[in-house]
Amino acid sequence: MSNASLNVLKVEPIRGLSDKINKVRQDTAEIVSTYIIPEEKILYGAEGDGPRVKLQMEVTDLVKRSGLWAPHLPEDYGGMGLGFMGLAYMNEILAWSMASKRCFGLSAPNSGNQSVLVKYGTEEQKKKWLEPLVRGEMESCFAMTEPDVAGSNPRAIRTSAVRDGDEWVINGRKWFISNANRADFAITMCRTEVDGAEGGVNHMMTQIIVPTDTPGFNIERAMPIWGHTAGEATCEITFSDVRVPLENQLGQRGSGHAAAQDRLGAGRVYHCMDCVGQMWRAFDLMVKRMTEREVHGGLQETKQFLQGFIADSYMDIQAARLMTIHCAEVIDSGNNPRTDISAIKVFVPNAFHRVVDRAMQVYGGLGVCSDLPLEGMYKHARTLRLADGPDEVHRILIAKNVLKRYHSGQCWDFGV
Ligand SMILES: Cc1cc2nc3c(=O)[nH]c(=O)nc-3n(C[C@H](O)[C@H](O)[C@H](O)COP(=O)(O)OP(=O)(O)OC[C@H]3O[C@@H](n4cnc5c(N)ncnc54)[C@H](O)[C@@H]3O)c2cc1C
Repeated sequence: MSNASLNVLKVEPIRGLSDKINKVRQDTAEIVSTYIIPEEKILYGAEGDGPRVKLQMEVTDLVKRSGLWAPHLPEDYGGMGLGFMGLAYMNEILAWSMASKRCFGLSAPNSGNQSVLVKYGTEEQKKKWLEPLVRGEMESCFAMTEPDVAGSNPRAIRTSAVRDGDEWVINGRKWFISNANRADFAITMCRTEVDGAEGGVNHMMTQIIVPTDTPGFNIERAMPIWGHTAGEATCEITFSDVRVPLENQLGQRGSGHAAAQDRLGAGRVYHCMDCVGQMWRAFDLMVKRMTEREVHGGLQETKQFLQGFIADSYMDIQAARLMTIHCAEVIDSGNNPRTDISAIKVFVPNAFHRVVDRAMQVYGGLGVCSDLPLEGMYKHARTLRLADGPDEVHRILIAKNVLKRYHSGQCWDFGV
């Protein structure tokens, strides 16, 4: 493991934050700058699983010894117990490199699945699935989206689970399932209730834990996402008479929709925190380049068109960052975060998209070359505008929630 000190990430203590969180930020920056960024081509690139796994284990060991493992989870489950606010401040450092997530035990879809298992899992399920997942001994995926119905409307899914004695029998097809090729189990969204059943449309689904070595669970193909199928793939899978014991049901029968919203809610916030860290990195790359690159008789930094990029990106980042921290504050305070989660889910990836786009423009041809992390960030930003619920659906939700309050005789609550 190289420890070439690049000093790319300088973190000063933030006044108003606790000593604990400031120390977490500084320790995180030290590991990301010294051990992850210099090796990110191996840790995150397409160099193959062998060298990646070996190096990742070394960095992971250091992260665990530094007490920075699984920052999103409560201490009782092997995490740091930071809460969403602490995580927001840590994650903007951590996410400077997309390679960090795995090294800190915070990678999607595992992180979202862990949060759902913490909330909905039985003691036995936690022992069998959550604990090894947190220790990094297992992988998981979350299987909800289907080819034949709109993924943006999870109430429409058709994959069925029918009870047969003490087993669930699952049939259906899912696609765009991240990490399915590596997963030991899939948290699978199934329709278990018939139309018109008690409870209405929000009580038709149940989440079921399906071990991926169960007969009938088949990976049909790795789907090419931006031309990429290797490594942690996004897969199309089928379930053909897949039988799992009833005890694999996660939460109450019919609670799948609520559990999915909980899971996706946390996952969306983690993604936005990643965007903020990535935006700072793209901004740093852009501004440094402008201070060094001469174009048409002057440094880029002297060109007013490009100075506008600095100003616009700075405003985008600060707005995205503060909205994300505000959302974390709402979650930690126990208030309903749905509107704020939708707001950041729309605003932050769009701001990320703009910030990376400007940085790419400043680099010219090099901007779209994989020598720099910008092209990867660009694809990620674009993808996030439709994954985990497309922009349009979240905009509709924001308006719906605001209007609901006005129709109930209240104005919007401007406090947390
Ligand atoms: C890289 C990647 C990874 C993914 N990982 C997973 C995963 O691990 N597990 C999983 O279950 N899913 C996963 N997904 C699926 C993702 O969540 C869905 O693609 C997303 O929810 C949109 O569903 P859809 O593709 O079926 O689009 P549709 O539902 O067909 O929507 C298409 C478009 O229609 C428009 N639209 C939809 N509803 C409305 C509306 N009400 N008003 C106006 N316009 C609307 C939007 O522009 C939207 O983009 C992943 C997707 C990608 C790209």
